[in-house]
Amino acid sequence: MNRKLANIALPLPLDRTFTYLVPPALESAVEAGRRVLVPFGRKKLSGIVVSFPESSSLPSIKPIIDVLDARPTFSSEMLKLTQWISEYYIASWGDVLKAASPQGATARSTPMVRLVAVNVHELIVQTKRTARIQYAVLSALAEQPLLSVSQLQKRAKSKTILPALQELASRGWIRIEEQTRPAAKPKKENIAVLSETGRLILTEPDPGTPKLTPKQRRILEELQKHDEPISLPSLVRMTRGSLSTVKTLAKRELLKIEQREIVRGEYDNPAEPAPSITLNPHQAHALQSIIGAMSAGAHRTFLLHGITGSGKTQVYIDAIREALKNGKTAIVLVPEISLTPQTVRRFKSHFGADVAVMHSQMSVGERYDAWRLAHNGRIRIVIGPRSAIFAPLENIGLIVVDEEHEASYKQYDSAPRYHARDVAVVRASINKAVVVLGSATPSTESYQNALTGKYELLSLPERVDDAKLPDIAIVDMGTERKRRIEEFKKERKEKGDWTAKLGPAPSVSSLLKSHIDQRLDKGEGIILLQNRRGFSHVVECFECGHVERCDNCDVSLTYHQTKRHLRCHYCGLVKPPPSVCPKCHGTEIRHHAFGTQQIHEELQALFPSARILRMDLDSTSRKGAHDKLLTQFGRGEADILLGTQMVAKGLDFPRVTLVGVISADTQMLLPDFRSSERTFQLLTQVAGRAGRSKLSGEVVIQTLQPSHYSLRYASTHDFAGFFAEELAYRKELDYPPFSRLVLMEFKGENEELVARHAAYVAGLLQPRSGKHFLVLGPADAAIPRIKNLYRKHLVVKDLKSTDPSGSYLRSALLSARDAYLASPLGKNRGVQMIIDVDPQGMM
Ligand code: ADP
Ligand code: ZN
Repeated sequence: MNRKLANIALPLPLDRTFTYLVPPALESAVEAGRRVLVPFGRKKLSGIVVSFPESSSLPSIKPIIDVLDARPTFSSEMLKLTQWISEYYIASWGDVLKAASPQGATARSTPMVRLVAVNVHELIVQTKRTARIQYAVLSALAEQPLLSVSQLQKRAKSKTILPALQELASRGWIRIEEQTRPAAKPKKENIAVLSETGRLILTEPDPGTPKLTPKQRRILEELQKHDEPISLPSLVRMTRGSLSTVKTLAKRELLKIEQREIVRGEYDNPAEPAPSITLNPHQAHALQSIIGAMSAGAHRTFLLHGITGSGKTQVYIDAIREALKNGKTAIVLVPEISLTPQTVRRFKSHFGADVAVMHSQMSVGERYDAWRLAHNGRIRIVIGPRSAIFAPLENIGLIVVDEEHEASYKQYDSAPRYHARDVAVVRASINKAVVVLGSATPSTESYQNALTGKYELLSLPERVDDAKLPDIAIVDMGTERKRRIEEFKKERKEKGDWTAKLGPAPSVSSLLKSHIDQRLDKGEGIILLQNRRGFSHVVECFECGHVERCDNCDVSLTYHQTKRHLRCHYCGLVKPPPSVCPKCHGTEIRHHAFGTQQIHEELQALFPSARILRMDLDSTSRKGAHDKLLTQFGRGEADILLGTQMVAKGLDFPRVTLVGVISADTQMLLPDFRSSERTFQLLTQVAGRAGRSKLSGEVVIQTLQPSHYSLRYASTHDFAGFFAEELAYRKELDYPPFSRLVLMEFKGENEELVARHAAYVAGLLQPRSGKHFLVLGPADAAIPRIKNLYRKHLVVKDLKSTDPSGSYLRSALLSARDAYLASPLGKNRGVQMIIDVDPQGMM
């Protein structure tokens, strides 16, 4: 193969790779999948070698500077996968590779300043009077001839040292250069190893050799006792000795000091061994199907639909054990690892040192170490959130995606905007591996895939150990309010006190209150959900709870305080807020928004003796805080766990017998076509936290929309019913799974300019739309301005009936994008265009 040229994918938002020369000295080291350092403009960038072109038409090609990997970072399989991601999600390959790279491995390039002048002391004198910053820079460099720009900024006590540096450089006194270094390195420690002579001197001291001092003897004996290397700091600590004594012993060759790589993270504390569990017949059947597919060695995707507490995790564990037995490896994706400490612990207790965990609260070094353990084949199971789908395992046999319906599997805030569940399916197909998507509330898309035979459906319809699903009661807060108002009026009349005012409505209904009281008496656990995720204010009728909806889109309208109107974020429809409720003619129209903190105070006042833990983003921002709260609650050190959706997921506490949902409406009313689905999922999940043992559970859901279908089906544990109704709604409006959505976002500081860009791209797409896809908008985004950037959305609906593979849409999108980027408007840097394929949030 010709290896004179190499194509490099660089982490730039450009849809192409770059060709570089392979210098003869590097020829044997340049290999597909390895990271290399290349010049790019005035910078040095690290990129990935992806292929070797025969020739290039470019007039001048720069050489690769260096190879950064001793072994390819990416296997050919990972190159294939990342290329697919870059094409499907319309992202640059380099960006995908960067996302798939171990955190901390991407070389960081730091500007450094090097002293080149020889007569520096003369120059210092020369600059002292006239140029303060130059003087400070030169004085610093006189002590240490290579310093980073930030170090020099500190020394010069000024942020703006660049002009001075440029001046010095132009005179040839200093040179500014880029230094690249990896952000993370393997961590090493010094260890002491007892030598043979050392061992001998303890047992049969040779009369000819000098005697050991008591301190020296203590150290050698300690080493002999442990019979394995000990790190120097621990050795010194254990023997209350000193480092110099250890060094003296090393000089006498009684012990050796060596370096050992240490793995950062929590690998050393083994979890308790797992109890052995016999699967029930449903579990056993699911497991057999998965094992059968694995041994057939063909790619298959299973949707494991198991109600909460039906033992899905146990099926994953047994399937992984089987994969390992056959020499394969496995990836387990969980929605958010810091939120699922219980799940992680279970995997560790079964597989111990074979598991590496990767999550966002780990330090860069810890993550880098976990990545390397997988890359070196020292561990065989990786568990983590969406990015763990890029784990550098070879020979993958099984990929598990737990809670496959979770939106957090979609990366939405930066490119590549991939969906880890869908990437899992593609990775498995490249590897001929098996995928298990598990959920109690599968996404409409996945369930439809299972019904049409694209996936294979496995069901766990019963809870393990004869535990029963909890009874669910729905409380109509509208009726509750009305009754309160009636009572108030009556009382006012009776007392004749016409100045009396009705206080704010309590957040806890009388039913929920009495249930909480009962649990507090019995000392059983209570979980309360207050899902304050709405930034937007919903405007509702105080009497009947009616909320205004869009005429065209079937989403609720959002109130905009600045313009004092209601708006649809799909089509842009605008309405004045009603002064009279169109449904019940009530005149009290209210805005609605309350959070966990307020509820916490209210609960504490209502139940003064209750011990309440609040769990939300604010109370869990510190590392490990989440785990600590859960442990406290699990031990029974608190009565009520109150939180946002964090409390809905994956928790398995046998002592919880009551779950309360303060308001089911916040999620339901979000202007997103998935809001019903998300409501159903959330309610089912949170209800699933109750009654997971011999103690039966109860659930109380408070709402202003008691007849909403997501609630109705959630209250009867009727997934099939919900799915049928949801699917019909999706079909009528051509939403996924009947279409594929692409969200195009335009943002910039100048609202009018942003609107022009969006309209321009809409105009480019319009001529090809109609039969295969529809273009909706542009319209303001649900949050029209974030951090002073205006946002406009275009939604493209690709109809699967006429464009099943999406190829028609893709080609239209790419040509529109290229035409836009080549246009004068597209060259304007004031507006950014973001393309999100299969968006999970439309806001
Ligand atoms: P899911 O993942 O479906 O919510 P889990 O796998 O967490 O359910 O199982 C719930 C609880 O039941 C766990 O504590 C688990 O150890 C236990 N369990 C699972 N399968 C069995 C079984 N076959 N027999 C007894 N207990 C089981
Ligand atoms: Zn609309």
